[in-house]
Amino acid sequence: MAVLVIADRDGEALRDTTHKTITAALKLSGDVDVLVLGQGSRAAADAAAKIAGVRKVLLAESDALAHQLAEAVEATVVGLAGGYDAILAPATTDGKNYMPRIAARLDVAPISDIIEVISSDSFVRPIYAGNALETIQSGDAKKVITVRPTNFDAADANGGSASVETMAGASGGRTADFVSEEMVKSDRPELGAARIVVSGGRALGSAEEFHAVLDPLADKLGAAVGASRAAVDAGYAPNDYQVGQTGKVVAPALYIAIGISGAIQHLAGMKDSKVIVAINKDADAPIFQVADYGLVGDYKVIVPELMKALG
Ligand code: FAD
Repeated sequence: MAVLVIADRDGEALRDTTHKTITAALKLSGDVDVLVLGQGSRAAADAAAKIAGVRKVLLAESDALAHQLAEAVEATVVGLAGGYDAILAPATTDGKNYMPRIAARLDVAPISDIIEVISSDSFVRPIYAGNALETIQSGDAKKVITVRPTNFDAADANGGSASVETMAGASGGRTADFVSEEMVKSDRPELGAARIVVSGGRALGSAEEFHAVLDPLADKLGAAVGASRAAVDAGYAPNDYQVGQTGKVVAPALYIAIGISGAIQHLAGMKDSKVIVAINKDADAPIFQVADYGLVGDYKVIVPELMKALG
């Protein structure tokens, strides 16, 4: 069996979502190749070649691939698909963008957001916002799979010595061109990979209050900042802070939810956190059902006390 993993990278650096997807791919018991798509991405390809268990790295470069345009990614991957039985990518915003397109072109059903590999054709995935797990068996000749990275350990970044082959990358599609992007620059850890996440909800009431309360606490703890959808929709926090069913799925060692009620769509994105602390003035808020530590009270009182206790 031959398996292709599409790498997730941040500029020149591979994200650890790639290493976690490789762990899932290795469980399919086949030869695992990694496809690095980009422009000027040689360093990312070299890093992928060092990951334990990787047979070969393919490096495809073009302007369109630099920005992961779905059309260009699809054209490149579909061109390679003949040589692979399974194609895996992390269930990130990019992966969720191009994998359904690849599956449609290959005329197979996409298998999304798997959290466990049972065998080369059977997988476990959450449904109903994580309230149930389903085991599916796919009869498709080719499997197109997105992997929930938080459920897999990262493959060893230094155990391999694969070769890197360059190949032609597809150009942009007929339907989309890259125009511009706005990146939020931050010195804090990335939300999906942070050990500690401090999240704020609708209770914060304004963008100014959100940042005045959350940012100093996050800086003190070396944490990433997250938000509920209500906080994002109200404009208190940028879109990429959103945790939940339609945002990011995180599983940090510590998740602190401030003024978040704990709707199932929010819990779907954070309930696998190792330790959950909830600060909410409503003792009946559903967040307390998943919290390891619940602090009932006004965040305006509790957060300053927490800051003082942290020194
Ligand atoms: P609220 O539910 O309004 O809760 C605010 C909480 O703050 C309350 O519990 C209140 O008691 C508490 N509070 C108020 N004042 C204070 C104070 N001074 N001190 C302490 N506590 C206080 N939501 C997500 O988060 N992520 C998603 O990805 C997501 N996806 C969705 C997808 C779909 C299809 C749908 C339908 C909904 C989705 N939602 C998602 C929305 C979700 O249903 C909730 O509406 C949202 O999570 C509520 O956000 P919140 O907890 O900040 O706000």
